[in-house]
Amino acid sequence: ALYLKKLEVYGFKSFADKISIDFRNGITGIVGPNGSGKSNVIDAVRWVLGEQSPKTLRGSKMEDIIFNGTSHRKPLGMAEVSLTFNNSEKLLPIDYSEVTITRRLYRSGESEYLINKIPCRLKDIRELLMDTGIGIDGYSLIGQGQIDGILSNKPEERRQIFEEAAGIVKFKSRKLEAEKK
Ligand code: ATP
Ligand code: MG
Repeated sequence: ALYLKKLEVYGFKSFADKISIDFRNGITGIVGPNGSGKSNVIDAVRWVLGEQSPKTLRGSKMEDIIFNGTSHRKPLGMAEVSLTFNNSEKLLPIDYSEVTITRRLYRSGESEYLINKIPCRLKDIRELLMDTGIGIDGYSLIGQGQIDGILSNKPEERRQIFEEAAGIVKFKSRKLEAEKK
C-alpha cells in the first residue's frame, strides 16, 4: 500500500512555526481544543494536493492561507506545505521509494509546486496521484457531510469514484487530451 509518511507545514494558517507530523502504521488522530488548528491540518493536506478553491479551504482568497500574524507575531510572507509518501512498492509511477510533494505560495501571488524538491507543474502532481485515490478529487479525503453525498450521488458521480479506485482515470484523461488535439 501507499502510506502517508510525513506532513510538514510552515506559514500555513495558524502554523507560524514549522511543524512536522510523522504518520505511523494504523490510525492517526488529531485532538485539541476548539480553534487549535485541527481542521487547518486537513486544509494543509488538501492544499498541497492542489486545492484551488479558497472557499473549500475556508477562506475568501488564496492569500488567506498564509499566516496572518497574531497580537505578538508578525504575518509571514510565504506558506509552504510538504507531504511525503512511502513509495517503496512503487505504486506511484516514479522511481523513488519516497516521494515528497511541496506547494508554496508567496504574498505576491507567486506559487510553486515541487516533486522531491524539483520544481514542476500542478499537472505533474495531478498525474502522479491520478488513480491512487489520493488526489484532490480522490476518495482518500472524505470531508464532513460527504458520505451522504457519496451515497445519494447521481450514478455518473458515483461511477467516478469507482473508476478512480479501478485505476482507469489516467486512460480516460489521456484519451480526452488526445481527442482535444
Ligand atoms: P474546532 O475544534 O472548532 O473545529 P480546530 O482545531 O479545527 O477547531 P481550526 O479551524 O483548524 O481549529 O483553526 C482555526 C484557527 O486558525 C483560528 O484561530 C484562526 O484564527 C486560525 N487561522 C486561520 N487562518 C489563519 C491565518 N492565515 N493566520 C493565522 N491564523 C489563522
Ligand atoms: Mg475543526
